[in-house]
Amino acid sequence: MPVAYESHTEDIKNILRILGPIKQLDKTKEELRELIDAIDTLNQDNITEEIADVEIMLVQLKAILGVSEAQIHIAKDRKIRRTLERVRGGYYETH
Ligand SMILES: [Mg+2]
Repeated sequence: MPVAYESHTEDIKNILRILGPIKQLDKTKEELRELIDAIDTLNQDNITEEIADVEIMLVQLKAILGVSEAQIHIAKDRKIRRTLERVRGGYYETH
């Protein structure tokens, strides 16, 4: 049975209210760069930390821009379907 984790969404939105959108947009870019650098290390602990940071910032980015979970879900559906169609159609080289 999967463990149900608390989403932290309200606490994260409180952080955004305190620090403000301008600072947090910059912070989002900083955390994305840190995740890119972490991926290059292939260090699982480092990557885990940076994924957490980025996920926290993505909650704030969506709140700043008023992007809903439904909009994200629809975009994911479309992109996943398109990628699977391309994979099946031989568009990508597979390993
Ligand atoms: Mg970080």
